[in-house]
Amino acid sequence: MDESAANPSPSPGPVDRRDVLRLVGLAGLAGLLAGCQSQSAIPDPVWPNDLQVTRPPTAPPIPVPPRPMPQPGPGPGAVVTVPDGVIRRLQWTRSGIARPRDINPLGRVSRITVHHEGVTPFSATGQDMVAARLEQVRRAHVNGNGWADIGYHYIIDPAGRVWEGRSIRFQGAHVSGQNENNIGVMCLGNYELQSPTSQTTTRLDRLLGDLMRQYRVPINRVFTHRELDKTACPGASLQRYMNTTRARGGRLAIALADTDLVSTLA
Ligand SMILES: [Zn+2]
Repeated sequence: MDESAANPSPSPGPVDRRDVLRLVGLAGLAGLLAGCQSQSAIPDPVWPNDLQVTRPPTAPPIPVPPRPMPQPGPGPGAVVTVPDGVIRRLQWTRSGIARPRDINPLGRVSRITVHHEGVTPFSATGQDMVAARLEQVRRAHVNGNGWADIGYHYIIDPAGRVWEGRSIRFQGAHVSGQNENNIGVMCLGNYELQSPTSQTTTRLDRLLGDLMRQYRVPINRVFTHRELDKTACPGASLQRYMNTTRARGGRLAIALADTDLVSTLA
């Protein structure tokens, strides 16, 4: 969770932080978080070469310059593609970006950060239950924290589904001061208080592998929240899992053995 970043003083754990946040009033924290999301809205993508030119029938065809290739990072104008099997946002919310002026383009992706939800344990696998929980998270981020939208780009549920959160075109709100070029992946639940299901960890590895290949992110640029900021996120059990899967011989590392994205492993 990014809420820890909003907490102006250290506290012992994510549950305590959450309690503190409730006490101080989430709305008051919006100002502290302005650094995560500021500046102006980005324009809609515009492709420059779409004009059809009418020529006399005898004229040779005019070569049409190719459209620009999609950039490695999903900045403005880039084609937005989500990894295979991701449940699109419209399947769980009809709400768009609540504050379009407060959202920035993500730019070229250079890192990925794994989080937990960090509230109460969550084990439900029903699609409706998960969708309702996602909406709770979105509302807490928008109405409580004053953010432009849900903070994370992708969310994994205990059944091993991946849900689209904030569009990958936009910078997320998940690591205080370090959201640039950083994809946020969150696992529903609290992994200080529960262990991730095998479905969650299997899907997490697959999603991370897909994103690493898509954006050319090496394994030493796949972080957990606590590796970038002072927080318990993503919880002890998920942190243990991430330590194992990223190490030499770990499942994520093996899945990428055919790439140069794991060459940094000792
Ligand atoms: Zn986090």
